[in-house]
Amino acid sequence: MTGAPVRTQGPDIQSGTIMDRSRAGRRAFSFPAPDVPEAAVPEEFARRGRPALPEVAERDIVAHYTRLSQMNYGVDTGVYALGSCSMKYNPKIAETVASLPGFQRAHPQQPDHTVQGALELLWRLERALCEVTGMARATLQPPAGACGELTGLLLMRAHHTKQGNARTRVAIPDSSHGTNPASVRLAGYEALHIPSDARGLVDVSALEKLVDEDVAGLMLTNPNTLGLFEEEIEKITSVVHNAGGLVYYDGANLNAILGRCRPGDMGFDIVHINTHKTFATPHGGGGPGAGPVGVTEELVPYLPVPSVERDEATGEFRLSADREDSIGRMHGFHGNFGVLVRAYAYVFLHGSDGLQEVGERAVLNANYLAELVKEAFPLAYPGRPMHEFVATARPLRDRTGIRAMDIAKRVIDLGFHPPTVYFPLVVEESMMVEPTETETRETLDGLAAAMLQAAQEAKTDPDILHQAPVTTPVRRLDEARAARHLKLRWS
Ligand SMILES: *Cc1c(COP(=O)(O)O)cnc(C)c1O
Repeated sequence: MTGAPVRTQGPDIQSGTIMDRSRAGRRAFSFPAPDVPEAAVPEEFARRGRPALPEVAERDIVAHYTRLSQMNYGVDTGVYALGSCSMKYNPKIAETVASLPGFQRAHPQQPDHTVQGALELLWRLERALCEVTGMARATLQPPAGACGELTGLLLMRAHHTKQGNARTRVAIPDSSHGTNPASVRLAGYEALHIPSDARGLVDVSALEKLVDEDVAGLMLTNPNTLGLFEEEIEKITSVVHNAGGLVYYDGANLNAILGRCRPGDMGFDIVHINTHKTFATPHGGGGPGAGPVGVTEELVPYLPVPSVERDEATGEFRLSADREDSIGRMHGFHGNFGVLVRAYAYVFLHGSDGLQEVGERAVLNANYLAELVKEAFPLAYPGRPMHEFVATARPLRDRTGIRAMDIAKRVIDLGFHPPTVYFPLVVEESMMVEPTETETRETLDGLAAAMLQAAQEAKTDPDILHQAPVTTPVRRLDEARAARHLKLRWS
Protein backbone atom coordinates (compact mmCIF):
# COMPACT_ATOMS: atom_id res chain seq x y z
CA MET A 1 0.00 0.00 0.00
CA THR A 2 1.13 3.52 -0.57
CA GLY A 3 0.19 6.77 1.07
CA ALA A 4 0.00 8.65 -2.23
CA PRO A 5 -3.43 9.99 -3.08
CA VAL A 6 -5.19 8.61 -6.11
CA ARG A 7 -4.61 10.86 -9.10
CA THR A 8 -7.11 10.93 -11.90
CA GLN A 9 -7.00 12.76 -15.23
CA GLY A 10 -8.73 15.96 -16.15
CA PRO A 11 -8.73 19.67 -15.52
CA ASP A 12 -11.10 20.43 -12.64
CA ILE A 13 -11.63 17.05 -11.14
CA GLN A 14 -9.71 17.47 -7.90
CA SER A 15 -12.23 19.89 -6.52
CA GLY A 16 -15.81 20.96 -6.58
CA THR A 17 -19.19 19.51 -5.86
CA ILE A 18 -21.61 17.96 -8.29
CA MET A 19 -23.38 21.34 -8.20
CA ASP A 20 -20.25 23.06 -9.54
CA ARG A 21 -20.50 20.84 -12.61
CA SER A 22 -24.10 21.84 -13.24
CA ARG A 23 -24.85 23.63 -16.57
CA ALA A 24 -28.37 24.90 -17.23
CA GLY A 25 -30.25 22.58 -19.56
CA ARG A 26 -27.70 19.76 -19.57
CA ARG A 27 -29.26 16.31 -19.14
CA ALA A 28 -28.07 12.78 -18.45
CA PHE A 29 -30.81 11.38 -20.64
CA SER A 30 -33.94 12.50 -22.47
CA PHE A 31 -37.50 11.26 -22.57
CA PRO A 32 -39.49 10.87 -25.77
CA ALA A 33 -42.39 13.29 -26.17
CA PRO A 34 -45.43 12.02 -24.22
CA ASP A 35 -47.94 10.06 -26.29
CA VAL A 36 -50.78 10.70 -23.87
CA PRO A 37 -52.58 14.03 -23.37
CA GLU A 38 -51.07 16.37 -20.79
CA ALA A 39 -53.11 16.67 -17.62
CA ALA A 40 -53.19 19.73 -15.39
CA VAL A 41 -51.60 19.13 -11.96
CA PRO A 42 -53.95 20.19 -9.14
CA GLU A 43 -52.74 23.44 -7.58
CA GLU A 44 -51.95 21.94 -4.16
CA PHE A 45 -49.62 19.36 -5.72
CA ALA A 46 -47.92 21.67 -8.22
CA ARG A 47 -44.27 22.62 -7.66
CA ARG A 48 -43.63 26.27 -6.73
CA GLY A 49 -40.21 26.35 -8.31
CA ARG A 50 -37.69 24.10 -9.99
CA PRO A 51 -35.99 21.58 -7.73
CA ALA A 52 -32.36 22.47 -6.93
CA LEU A 53 -30.87 19.49 -8.76
CA PRO A 54 -27.58 19.46 -10.64
CA GLU A 55 -27.93 19.49 -14.42
CA VAL A 56 -25.16 17.23 -15.61
CA ALA A 57 -24.33 14.61 -18.22
CA GLU A 58 -24.26 10.96 -17.16
CA ARG A 59 -20.55 10.98 -17.89
CA ASP A 60 -20.00 13.79 -15.38
CA ILE A 61 -21.99 12.00 -12.70
CA VAL A 62 -19.93 8.84 -13.09
CA ALA A 63 -16.63 10.76 -13.10
CA HIS A 64 -17.61 12.82 -10.06
CA TYR A 65 -18.71 9.95 -7.84
CA THR A 66 -15.96 7.61 -8.97
CA ARG A 67 -13.44 10.31 -8.06
CA LEU A 68 -15.03 10.70 -4.63
CA SER A 69 -14.93 6.94 -4.08
CA GLN A 70 -11.23 6.93 -4.97
CA MET A 71 -10.53 9.61 -2.38
CA ASN A 72 -12.09 7.40 0.24
CA TYR A 73 -10.43 4.79 2.39
CA GLY A 74 -12.69 1.83 3.01
CA VAL A 75 -12.69 -1.76 4.19
CA ASP A 76 -11.92 -2.88 0.63
CA THR A 77 -8.86 -0.61 0.49
CA GLY A 78 -6.92 -1.80 3.51
CA VAL A 79 -6.83 -2.48 7.24
CA TYR A 80 -9.19 -0.25 9.19
CA ALA A 81 -8.16 -0.79 12.81
CA LEU A 82 -10.75 1.56 14.25
CA GLY A 83 -11.21 0.32 17.81
CA SER A 84 -14.81 -0.24 18.96
CA CYS A 85 -16.10 -0.31 15.36
CA SER A 86 -14.98 -3.77 14.13
CA MET A 87 -14.32 -2.58 10.59
CA LYS A 88 -13.44 -5.95 9.17
CA TYR A 89 -13.35 -6.96 5.54
CA ASN A 90 -16.85 -7.75 4.27
CA PRO A 91 -16.74 -11.02 2.33
CA LYS A 92 -18.11 -10.55 -1.16
CA ILE A 93 -20.22 -13.67 -0.96
CA ALA A 94 -22.40 -11.90 1.62
CA GLU A 95 -23.09 -9.24 -1.02
CA THR A 96 -23.78 -11.85 -3.67
CA VAL A 97 -26.32 -13.62 -1.47
CA ALA A 98 -28.02 -10.34 -0.49
CA SER A 99 -28.38 -9.38 -4.15
CA LEU A 100 -30.26 -12.56 -5.15
CA PRO A 101 -33.50 -11.27 -6.68
CA GLY A 102 -35.69 -13.26 -4.27
CA PHE A 103 -34.18 -11.31 -1.37
CA GLN A 104 -33.43 -8.00 -3.02
CA ARG A 105 -36.80 -7.58 -4.69
CA ALA A 106 -39.06 -8.98 -2.00
CA HIS A 107 -41.61 -6.47 -0.74
CA PRO A 108 -42.29 -6.47 3.02
CA GLN A 109 -46.04 -6.45 2.43
CA GLN A 110 -46.12 -9.51 0.20
CA PRO A 111 -48.41 -12.27 1.51
CA ASP A 112 -46.52 -14.80 3.64
CA HIS A 113 -46.95 -17.67 1.19
CA THR A 114 -45.07 -15.73 -1.54
CA VAL A 115 -42.00 -15.04 0.65
CA GLN A 116 -41.49 -18.35 2.41
CA GLY A 117 -37.76 -18.30 1.67
CA ALA A 118 -37.25 -14.86 3.19
CA LEU A 119 -39.27 -15.80 6.29
CA GLU A 120 -37.35 -19.04 6.65
CA LEU A 121 -34.09 -17.11 6.52
CA LEU A 122 -35.26 -14.84 9.36
CA TRP A 123 -36.47 -17.85 11.36
CA ARG A 124 -33.17 -19.70 10.92
CA LEU A 125 -31.08 -16.63 11.65
CA GLU A 126 -32.98 -16.06 14.89
CA ARG A 127 -32.22 -19.63 15.96
CA ALA A 128 -28.56 -19.32 15.01
CA LEU A 129 -28.18 -16.12 17.03
CA CYS A 130 -29.87 -17.79 20.00
CA GLU A 131 -27.41 -20.67 19.68
CA VAL A 132 -24.44 -18.29 19.59
CA THR A 133 -25.65 -16.27 22.59
CA GLY A 134 -27.39 -18.99 24.64
CA MET A 135 -30.78 -17.25 24.64
CA ALA A 136 -34.31 -18.60 24.10
CA ARG A 137 -35.71 -16.27 21.43
CA ALA A 138 -34.62 -13.07 19.70
CA THR A 139 -36.00 -10.13 17.76
CA LEU A 140 -34.27 -9.11 14.55
CA GLN A 141 -35.99 -5.72 14.26
CA PRO A 142 -33.54 -3.22 15.80
CA PRO A 143 -31.57 -1.54 12.99
CA ALA A 144 -28.43 -0.83 15.09
CA GLY A 145 -26.73 -1.74 18.33
CA ALA A 146 -28.01 1.40 20.02
CA CYS A 147 -31.60 0.52 19.08
CA GLY A 148 -30.96 -3.00 20.38
CA GLU A 149 -30.02 -1.43 23.71
CA LEU A 150 -33.21 0.61 23.78
CA THR A 151 -35.21 -2.51 22.91
CA GLY A 152 -33.52 -4.45 25.71
CA LEU A 153 -34.21 -1.70 28.23
CA LEU A 154 -37.86 -1.51 27.18
CA LEU A 155 -38.06 -5.27 27.69
CA MET A 156 -36.54 -4.76 31.13
CA ARG A 157 -39.12 -2.08 31.88
CA ALA A 158 -41.99 -4.28 30.63
CA HIS A 159 -40.82 -7.09 32.91
CA HIS A 160 -40.62 -4.87 36.01
CA THR A 161 -43.91 -3.13 35.20
CA LYS A 162 -45.56 -6.53 35.03
CA GLN A 163 -44.11 -7.26 38.50
CA GLY A 164 -45.74 -4.05 39.71
CA ASN A 165 -42.65 -1.83 40.02
CA ALA A 166 -40.84 -0.38 36.99
CA ARG A 167 -37.93 0.84 39.19
CA THR A 168 -36.01 4.00 38.20
CA ARG A 169 -32.33 3.33 37.67
CA VAL A 170 -30.04 1.25 35.47
CA ALA A 171 -26.44 0.60 36.45
CA ILE A 172 -23.67 1.10 33.85
CA PRO A 173 -19.91 0.79 34.35
CA ASP A 174 -17.95 4.00 33.63
CA SER A 175 -16.06 2.29 30.80
CA SER A 176 -19.25 1.61 28.84
CA HIS A 177 -19.90 2.70 25.28
CA GLY A 178 -21.53 6.15 25.00
CA THR A 179 -24.71 4.62 23.63
CA ASN A 180 -25.40 2.85 26.97
CA PRO A 181 -26.13 5.96 29.06
CA ALA A 182 -28.02 7.47 26.12
CA SER A 183 -30.25 4.40 25.80
CA VAL A 184 -30.85 4.37 29.54
CA ARG A 185 -32.16 7.95 29.36
CA LEU A 186 -34.25 7.24 26.29
CA ALA A 187 -35.90 4.31 28.07
CA GLY A 188 -36.86 6.66 30.91
CA TYR A 189 -34.30 5.50 33.46
CA GLU A 190 -31.57 7.30 35.38
CA ALA A 191 -28.02 6.05 34.86
CA LEU A 192 -26.28 4.75 37.96
CA HIS A 193 -22.55 4.91 37.26
CA ILE A 194 -20.36 2.06 38.49
CA PRO A 195 -16.64 2.85 38.79
CA SER A 196 -13.85 0.70 37.34
CA ASP A 197 -11.07 -0.63 39.51
CA ALA A 198 -7.32 -0.22 38.89
CA ARG A 199 -7.41 -3.14 36.46
CA GLY A 200 -10.03 -1.47 34.26
CA LEU A 201 -12.74 -3.95 35.33
CA VAL A 202 -16.04 -3.41 37.16
CA ASP A 203 -15.38 -2.52 40.80
CA VAL A 204 -17.52 -5.27 42.33
CA SER A 205 -17.44 -3.95 45.90
CA ALA A 206 -18.69 -0.56 44.65
CA LEU A 207 -21.38 -2.39 42.68
CA GLU A 208 -22.50 -4.25 45.81
CA LYS A 209 -22.88 -0.96 47.69
CA LEU A 210 -24.71 0.87 44.89
CA VAL A 211 -27.21 -1.71 43.67
CA ASP A 212 -30.54 -1.73 45.51
CA GLU A 213 -34.18 -2.61 44.88
CA ASP A 214 -34.67 0.52 42.78
CA VAL A 215 -32.20 -0.70 40.17
CA ALA A 216 -33.99 -2.21 37.16
CA GLY A 217 -30.82 -3.81 35.89
CA LEU A 218 -27.19 -3.55 34.84
CA MET A 219 -25.75 -3.17 31.35
CA LEU A 220 -22.41 -4.86 30.96
CA THR A 221 -20.16 -4.75 27.92
CA ASN A 222 -17.90 -7.76 27.66
CA PRO A 223 -15.12 -7.71 26.67
CA ASN A 224 -15.43 -4.18 27.96
CA THR A 225 -14.55 -1.01 26.12
CA LEU A 226 -10.93 -1.37 27.25
CA GLY A 227 -10.81 -4.71 25.41
CA LEU A 228 -10.68 -6.63 28.71
CA PHE A 229 -12.70 -9.69 29.68
CA GLU A 230 -14.62 -9.04 32.91
CA GLU A 231 -13.26 -11.53 35.44
CA GLU A 232 -16.08 -11.56 37.98
CA ILE A 233 -19.11 -11.92 35.79
CA GLU A 234 -20.91 -14.47 37.96
CA LYS A 235 -20.44 -12.24 40.99
CA ILE A 236 -21.70 -9.24 39.03
CA THR A 237 -24.82 -10.98 37.71
CA SER A 238 -25.68 -12.43 41.13
CA VAL A 239 -25.39 -9.04 42.87
CA VAL A 240 -27.93 -7.63 40.40
CA HIS A 241 -30.21 -10.68 40.40
CA ASN A 242 -30.26 -10.75 44.21
CA ALA A 243 -31.66 -7.22 44.18
CA GLY A 244 -34.36 -8.33 41.72
CA GLY A 245 -32.73 -6.65 38.71
CA LEU A 246 -31.99 -8.02 35.24
CA VAL A 247 -28.59 -8.17 33.56
CA TYR A 248 -28.06 -6.94 30.04
CA TYR A 249 -25.11 -8.02 27.90
CA ASP A 250 -23.93 -5.39 25.41
CA GLY A 251 -22.75 -7.89 22.80
CA ALA A 252 -21.20 -5.43 20.36
CA ASN A 253 -17.88 -7.12 21.12
CA LEU A 254 -19.21 -10.63 20.63
CA ASN A 255 -16.62 -11.39 17.96
CA ALA A 256 -14.07 -11.77 20.78
CA ILE A 257 -15.88 -14.70 22.39
CA LEU A 258 -17.61 -16.43 19.46
CA GLY A 259 -17.90 -20.15 20.05
CA ARG A 260 -15.98 -19.89 23.33
CA CYS A 261 -18.62 -18.81 25.80
CA ARG A 262 -22.18 -17.53 25.74
CA PRO A 263 -23.88 -14.69 27.61
CA GLY A 264 -26.85 -16.98 28.35
CA ASP A 265 -24.58 -19.45 30.13
CA MET A 266 -23.07 -16.62 32.17
CA GLY A 267 -26.47 -15.70 33.59
CA PHE A 268 -27.47 -12.77 31.39
CA ASP A 269 -31.16 -12.13 30.72
CA ILE A 270 -30.89 -9.94 27.62
CA VAL A 271 -28.18 -9.59 24.99
CA HIS A 272 -27.86 -7.53 21.85
CA ILE A 273 -25.63 -8.41 18.92
CA ASN A 274 -24.21 -5.99 16.39
CA THR A 275 -24.38 -8.19 13.31
CA HIS A 276 -22.51 -5.45 11.40
CA LYS A 277 -19.58 -5.84 13.78
CA THR A 278 -19.60 -9.53 14.60
CA PHE A 279 -20.57 -10.86 11.19
CA ALA A 280 -20.78 -9.00 7.87
CA THR A 281 -21.52 -5.45 6.61
CA PRO A 282 -19.15 -3.31 8.71
CA HIS A 283 -20.30 0.32 8.83
CA GLY A 284 -18.20 2.22 11.34
CA GLY A 285 -19.94 5.52 11.88
CA GLY A 286 -22.83 5.10 9.47
CA GLY A 287 -24.80 2.97 7.08
CA PRO A 288 -27.43 0.37 7.83
CA GLY A 289 -26.81 -2.23 10.52
CA ALA A 290 -28.73 -4.69 12.64
CA GLY A 291 -28.90 -5.04 16.42
CA PRO A 292 -30.90 -8.21 17.17
CA VAL A 293 -31.80 -8.76 20.82
CA GLY A 294 -31.96 -12.18 22.47
CA VAL A 295 -33.73 -12.92 25.75
CA THR A 296 -34.33 -15.72 28.23
CA GLU A 297 -37.59 -17.69 28.21
CA GLU A 298 -38.96 -15.45 30.95
CA LEU A 299 -38.80 -12.32 28.76
CA VAL A 300 -40.10 -13.83 25.49
CA PRO A 301 -43.68 -12.54 26.04
CA TYR A 302 -42.41 -8.93 25.82
CA LEU A 303 -40.44 -9.24 22.57
CA PRO A 304 -41.43 -7.00 19.63
CA VAL A 305 -43.95 -8.23 17.06
CA PRO A 306 -44.35 -9.46 14.43
CA SER A 307 -42.22 -12.54 14.95
CA VAL A 308 -41.62 -15.28 12.42
CA GLU A 309 -43.16 -18.60 13.48
CA ARG A 310 -43.16 -22.02 11.87
CA ASP A 311 -46.23 -24.19 11.75
CA GLU A 312 -44.98 -27.52 13.04
CA ALA A 313 -47.62 -29.50 11.11
CA THR A 314 -47.16 -27.93 7.66
CA GLY A 315 -43.63 -26.53 7.98
CA GLU A 316 -44.95 -23.16 6.72
CA PHE A 317 -43.56 -19.87 7.99
CA ARG A 318 -45.80 -16.97 8.96
CA LEU A 319 -45.67 -13.60 10.64
CA SER A 320 -47.36 -13.52 14.01
CA ALA A 321 -48.43 -10.61 16.20
CA ASP A 322 -49.54 -13.03 18.86
CA ARG A 323 -47.81 -11.60 21.95
CA GLU A 324 -50.16 -9.76 24.25
CA ASP A 325 -47.46 -8.20 26.43
CA SER A 326 -45.21 -7.21 23.51
CA ILE A 327 -43.44 -3.84 23.71
CA GLY A 328 -44.59 -3.34 20.10
CA ARG A 329 -42.54 -2.56 17.05
CA MET A 330 -38.98 -1.25 17.09
CA HIS A 331 -38.71 -0.80 13.32
CA GLY A 332 -40.89 -0.92 10.23
CA PHE A 333 -41.43 -4.46 8.98
CA HIS A 334 -38.51 -6.75 9.92
CA GLY A 335 -35.61 -4.37 10.45
CA ASN A 336 -32.81 -4.03 7.91
CA PHE A 337 -33.54 -7.19 5.98
CA GLY A 338 -30.54 -6.89 3.62
CA VAL A 339 -28.14 -6.67 6.56
CA LEU A 340 -29.78 -9.73 8.13
CA VAL A 341 -29.32 -11.67 4.89
CA ARG A 342 -25.61 -10.82 4.97
CA ALA A 343 -25.36 -11.91 8.61
CA TYR A 344 -27.10 -15.17 7.72
CA ALA A 345 -24.68 -15.78 4.85
CA TYR A 346 -21.72 -15.11 7.14
CA VAL A 347 -22.93 -17.36 9.97
CA PHE A 348 -23.78 -20.33 7.78
CA LEU A 349 -20.69 -19.93 5.63
CA HIS A 350 -18.49 -20.31 8.68
CA GLY A 351 -20.46 -22.84 10.69
CA SER A 352 -19.86 -23.21 14.41
CA ASP A 353 -16.19 -24.20 14.18
CA GLY A 354 -15.54 -21.41 11.68
CA LEU A 355 -17.14 -18.82 13.95
CA GLN A 356 -14.99 -19.96 16.83
CA GLU A 357 -11.94 -19.46 14.64
CA VAL A 358 -13.14 -15.96 13.75
CA GLY A 359 -13.14 -15.08 17.45
CA GLU A 360 -9.76 -16.66 18.12
CA ARG A 361 -8.10 -14.88 15.21
CA ALA A 362 -9.59 -11.54 16.19
CA VAL A 363 -8.02 -11.95 19.64
CA LEU A 364 -4.72 -13.24 18.24
CA ASN A 365 -4.37 -10.37 15.78
CA ALA A 366 -5.04 -7.74 18.45
CA ASN A 367 -2.52 -9.29 20.83
CA TYR A 368 0.11 -9.62 18.11
CA LEU A 369 -0.25 -5.97 17.16
CA ALA A 370 -0.26 -4.84 20.81
CA GLU A 371 3.07 -6.63 21.31
CA LEU A 372 4.59 -4.97 18.25
CA VAL A 373 3.74 -1.40 19.28
CA LYS A 374 3.96 -1.60 23.08
CA GLU A 375 7.42 0.01 23.35
CA ALA A 376 6.07 3.24 21.95
CA PHE A 377 2.41 2.83 22.90
CA PRO A 378 2.02 0.83 26.11
CA LEU A 379 -1.28 -0.74 27.10
CA ALA A 380 -3.36 1.55 29.30
CA TYR A 381 -4.19 -1.32 31.68
CA PRO A 382 -2.30 -4.48 32.57
CA GLY A 383 -3.77 -7.80 31.51
CA ARG A 384 -4.27 -9.51 28.19
CA PRO A 385 -6.57 -7.70 25.84
CA MET A 386 -9.14 -9.59 23.80
CA HIS A 387 -10.08 -8.53 20.23
CA GLU A 388 -8.98 -4.92 20.68
CA PHE A 389 -6.59 -3.04 22.92
CA VAL A 390 -6.34 0.41 24.40
CA ALA A 391 -2.82 1.85 24.29
CA THR A 392 -1.74 5.30 25.34
CA ALA A 393 0.49 7.93 23.74
CA ARG A 394 0.92 9.62 27.10
CA PRO A 395 4.60 8.68 27.62
CA LEU A 396 5.35 9.92 24.10
CA ARG A 397 3.48 13.17 24.73
CA ASP A 398 5.31 13.72 28.03
CA ARG A 399 8.67 13.28 26.32
CA THR A 400 8.04 15.01 22.99
CA GLY A 401 4.78 16.97 23.13
CA ILE A 402 3.46 14.86 20.22
CA ARG A 403 -0.10 13.71 20.85
CA ALA A 404 -2.20 10.69 19.86
CA MET A 405 -3.95 12.85 17.25
CA ASP A 406 -0.61 13.77 15.58
CA ILE A 407 0.31 10.08 15.40
CA ALA A 408 -3.08 9.23 13.89
CA LYS A 409 -2.70 11.92 11.21
CA ARG A 410 0.82 10.78 10.34
CA VAL A 411 -0.34 7.16 10.04
CA ILE A 412 -2.71 8.36 7.30
CA ASP A 413 0.26 9.71 5.31
CA LEU A 414 1.97 6.37 5.78
CA GLY A 415 -0.94 4.66 4.04
CA PHE A 416 -3.17 3.37 6.84
CA HIS A 417 -6.47 4.27 8.41
CA PRO A 418 -5.49 5.28 11.96
CA PRO A 419 -6.90 3.64 15.09
CA THR A 420 -9.57 5.33 17.20
CA VAL A 421 -8.06 8.12 19.29
CA TYR A 422 -9.33 9.80 22.48
CA PHE A 423 -11.82 7.00 23.18
CA PRO A 424 -12.43 5.53 25.69
CA LEU A 425 -12.48 8.77 27.64
CA VAL A 426 -11.18 7.18 30.84
CA VAL A 427 -7.70 6.86 29.28
CA GLU A 428 -5.49 9.88 28.57
CA GLU A 429 -4.13 10.08 24.99
CA SER A 430 -5.90 6.81 24.24
CA MET A 431 -5.44 4.87 21.04
CA MET A 432 -7.96 2.09 20.63
CA VAL A 433 -6.84 -0.50 18.13
CA GLU A 434 -8.94 -3.29 16.63
CA PRO A 435 -7.25 -4.96 13.67
CA THR A 436 -9.99 -7.66 13.36
CA GLU A 437 -9.46 -11.23 12.24
CA THR A 438 -9.42 -10.57 8.52
CA GLU A 439 -5.90 -9.10 8.23
CA THR A 440 -2.72 -10.98 7.32
CA ARG A 441 0.43 -10.91 9.38
CA GLU A 442 2.14 -8.73 6.75
CA THR A 443 -0.61 -6.14 7.05
CA LEU A 444 -0.33 -6.08 10.85
CA ASP A 445 3.44 -5.72 10.53
CA GLY A 446 2.92 -2.82 8.13
CA LEU A 447 0.51 -1.00 10.43
CA ALA A 448 2.83 -1.51 13.41
CA ALA A 449 5.77 -0.21 11.37
CA ALA A 450 3.81 2.92 10.47
CA MET A 451 2.85 3.58 14.11
CA LEU A 452 6.43 3.01 15.26
CA GLN A 453 7.84 5.22 12.50
CA ALA A 454 5.51 8.03 13.61
CA ALA A 455 6.65 7.54 17.22
CA GLN A 456 10.29 7.73 16.08
CA GLU A 457 9.64 10.91 14.10
CA ALA A 458 8.16 12.48 17.23
CA LYS A 459 11.75 12.66 18.47
CA THR A 460 13.61 13.31 15.23
CA ASP A 461 11.24 15.26 13.02
CA PRO A 462 8.25 16.58 14.99
CA ASP A 463 7.34 19.08 12.24
CA ILE A 464 6.31 16.27 9.96
CA LEU A 465 3.80 15.16 12.59
CA HIS A 466 2.44 18.64 13.19
CA GLN A 467 1.79 19.04 9.48
CA ALA A 468 0.33 15.62 8.76
CA PRO A 469 -1.62 14.62 6.81
CA VAL A 470 -0.11 16.06 3.63
CA THR A 471 -1.07 13.35 1.13
CA THR A 472 -4.83 13.60 1.54
CA PRO A 473 -7.37 15.72 -0.42
CA VAL A 474 -8.05 17.70 2.76
CA ARG A 475 -5.64 18.46 5.61
CA ARG A 476 -6.55 18.63 9.30
CA LEU A 477 -10.23 19.26 9.64
CA ASP A 478 -12.06 21.12 12.35
CA GLU A 479 -13.84 17.97 13.44
CA ALA A 480 -16.47 19.66 15.58
CA ARG A 481 -17.49 22.30 13.04
CA ALA A 482 -19.47 20.12 10.67
CA ALA A 483 -21.58 18.91 13.60
CA ARG A 484 -22.09 22.40 15.05
CA HIS A 485 -22.79 24.24 11.80
CA LEU A 486 -24.88 21.87 9.78
CA LYS A 487 -25.26 22.79 6.15
CA LEU A 488 -27.95 20.57 4.76
CA ARG A 489 -29.12 22.73 1.87
CA TRP A 490 -27.36 23.70 -1.32
CA SER A 491 -28.33 27.06 -2.71
C1 LIG B 1 -20.70 -0.05 18.48
C2 LIG B 1 -21.14 -0.26 19.86
C3 LIG B 1 -22.45 0.06 20.25
C4 LIG B 1 -23.45 0.75 19.34
O1 LIG B 1 -23.76 0.06 18.18
P1 LIG B 1 -24.30 0.84 16.89
O2 LIG B 1 -24.68 -0.22 15.93
O3 LIG B 1 -23.20 1.71 16.41
O4 LIG B 1 -25.50 1.63 17.33
C5 LIG B 1 -22.81 -0.23 21.55
N1 LIG B 1 -21.96 -0.77 22.43
C6 LIG B 1 -20.69 -1.08 22.09
C7 LIG B 1 -19.77 -1.69 23.11
C8 LIG B 1 -20.23 -0.82 20.80
O5 LIG B 1 -18.96 -1.11 20.47
